[in-house]
Amino acid sequence: MNMEEPLVHCPKCGEEHPIQSVLTAQSNQNVIFECPKCGYEKRNILTSKG
Ligand SMILES: [Zn+2]
Repeated sequence: MNMEEPLVHCPKCGEEHPIQSVLTAQSNQNVIFECPKCGYEKRNILTSKG
């Protein structure tokens, strides 16, 4: 059985990281992306709701 973990591409360095290690869910439903390699950070990824 393979453990398939969803991977996220860092838009800056292009590295792939497991989604759980780069995405942090906030209590206010904001999601922060943080790349452990290059330090790229992006807030409020999920902004579909106004
Ligand atoms: Zn990166």
